[in-house]
This record gives sequence, structure tokens and C-alpha cells, in this order.
Amino acid sequence: MRAAVLHEIGQDKLDVLDDVEAVGFGPGKVRIRIRATGLCHSDISAMTGVLPQPAPFVPGHEGAGEILDVGDGVTSLAPGDRVLVCWLPACGVCPSCKRGQTHLCLAGFMNAGTPNFKRPGAEVFGFAGTGTFAEEVVVAAGCAVPIPDDVPYEIAALIGCGVTTGLGAAINTAKVEAGSSVAVIGCGGVGISAIQGARAQGAAQIVAVDPVASRREAALTFGATEAVSPSELDDAKQRITGGEGFDYVFEVVGKSATARTAYGATRRGGTLCVVGAGAMDDFFQLNMFELFFDEKRILPSLYGGGDVLRSYERAVALWRAGRIDLEGLITHRVPLAGINDALDQMRTGEALRTCITL
Ligand SMILES: [Zn+2]
Ligand SMILES: [Zn+2]
Repeated sequence: MRAAVLHEIGQDKLDVLDDVEAVGFGPGKVRIRIRATGLCHSDISAMTGVLPQPAPFVPGHEGAGEILDVGDGVTSLAPGDRVLVCWLPACGVCPSCKRGQTHLCLAGFMNAGTPNFKRPGAEVFGFAGTGTFAEEVVVAAGCAVPIPDDVPYEIAALIGCGVTTGLGAAINTAKVEAGSSVAVIGCGGVGISAIQGARAQGAAQIVAVDPVASRREAALTFGATEAVSPSELDDAKQRITGGEGFDYVFEVVGKSATARTAYGATRRGGTLCVVGAGAMDDFFQLNMFELFFDEKRILPSLYGGGDVLRSYERAVALWRAGRIDLEGLITHRVPLAGINDALDQMRTGEALRTCITL
């Protein structure tokens, strides 16, 4: 079957090959025919080595499709079921899961060192234990979450990562209050989802901050009340908050420099919510005086920061009610053969979300 493979960390092009096979099917596993997969910035971060990932590997962790086959012991799914791929499945029995923080369950990472694919002469890993830039994937049954019939595969794929991450940051982690002021730094698919989450929570002012003009324009159509370039953020802070700073600032880039900017844009006692996925050697520094004296709450948000299945259901409910726009997030659609063009668009910041159809 067809899949897009990165041979070595640091390469910037994927090799679309037809000799790849999904491996590991057996008890407790399911085989999924992927129909749509989103291109998430974390895929690029894994390719560059910012996020740890063994190679060669098939990127992609935001996908949806239908079940082809179920292994022994899988009773909750059947061939033909429409599912989205959850790259962070909940085991249901660990301390994190028992607390309702299923996004912190590490069970899914136990298989991260096991290849998900093979091709002649080589084992191939799947990013985050999935690898959705492939026509078929084999994953643990818990990674396949049924989706309602009215949710298209493209929309379901986005809910599998970017939308859940951004909405959850605003709703679960920061718990944005009605009437508050919000700034979102970094307005790709996740940042736009944080904007939509803040709007759904009733934020009064939502400032989108991004260096790319097309993203600033897009942000205004998703609920941002104004959109500025990074150099204009200080001015916006003065105008909108009287210089005090925003009640909530979301860092959706994953760099210490932007996190520092975001910290500075947060009011004393306000909330800095760190959503971007950053590198292990990039350090965020604060002095101990500002840390205690300004009492800014620094809240990291991983994968929506809450119960994952509940977050999916909420995203679907808000989408059905017309309270969030998910179709509009998909700015490009390409077949798998066009993946390298899609990567280039993601790098220039042109795309909010590219959906790859298979
Ligand atoms: Zn668990
Ligand atoms: Zn992602």
C-alpha cells in the first residue's frame, strides 16, 4: 500500500512509496483504511528532530477512516465502523485515567519503539505510534474512536489533534471567562481553534497575533476581534488593556522566545497557557522575583488538557450547533502524492490546515 516515508531525521521531503505494509495486527488491534489526514505542525517538528521520533517513519497522527479488520478480543468495533485516530489513547486504569486526565495517560507511548510498518529490507515507525500518511494503519483498538455518521472524515481527522488541542486549551485548561480579554500568539490550525474556544467561552476581546497576513485575515473570520503582527502586540496591549496585559494569553508556537513574549503580554494574575510543542533544549526563563510577585499562572496544555473522549464529543457538539467552524480550517486539499507541496505551504504559514485525502 501507499505511504509517505521520511528516511532520516532532518530531511525535508517525504518519499511517497507503494511498497509499504502496515504491521502488528493481532489481538487487541484494529486495521484502519485512512480516508483523510490533516497535516499538523508536529509532523514537521518530528521531521526536523524538534520532537523525538525514531526514523525511518511515516508522519501523520491526525486521521480518520474506516475499520477494515478487528483482532481477537476487540468487541467494541467492527469492520465498516467510521473512526478517528486518537494518538493518545486512554488505558482507563492508570492513575491519570482514574483522575479523568486521560490526556496524561502514557499507555499509548509504551509501543512508541515498535515499528508500525515495514517495506522491503526495512522496518518503518509511525509518528506517535500511528502514522496516518498511509492508506492503512494498524493501531490498538483504543486508538480508534467511533465518529457519528454526520461527521465527515476530514472534520473527524482535525478533531483527532489540532481542533481538540486548541479548543481544549481555552475551555479545559485556561477556562476562559466570559467578558475577558485574550491574545493568541500563533494562528495556524491550533491557534485558530484556541480563538474559537475563547469565543465559545464568551471572551470579549480576542487578539490574534501572527506574522503571516493571510493567517491574520483568517483569524478575523473565526472570532478574533482584531489581528496584529507580533511587532504590534505591545500597542494592542496598551490600547485594549490599558497596558495591564491580557487576562489570557495563548502561546501556540512552541518556542521560548514567544513564550517570553506571551508572559509579558499577560496581566499580573492572568493566565499564560502554553500550547505549542517545543524542543527539549529550548529553555524558558523567568526570574524568581517576577515569578512570585506577578502571580501569573502558567498553564501548559497537552492535547486539550482534559478527558480526550469528552473533548471530542464537545468539538462535535459545537460544530453541529454552528458555534465553531471546522470546514473553514481546511484551506487546502491534496492527495498523498502532493504531500511535499503541502509541507511547503505549512512551512510558509500559508495553510491553516491541509487535508490529505487517501
Ligand atoms: Zn491510562
Ligand atoms: Zn498534532
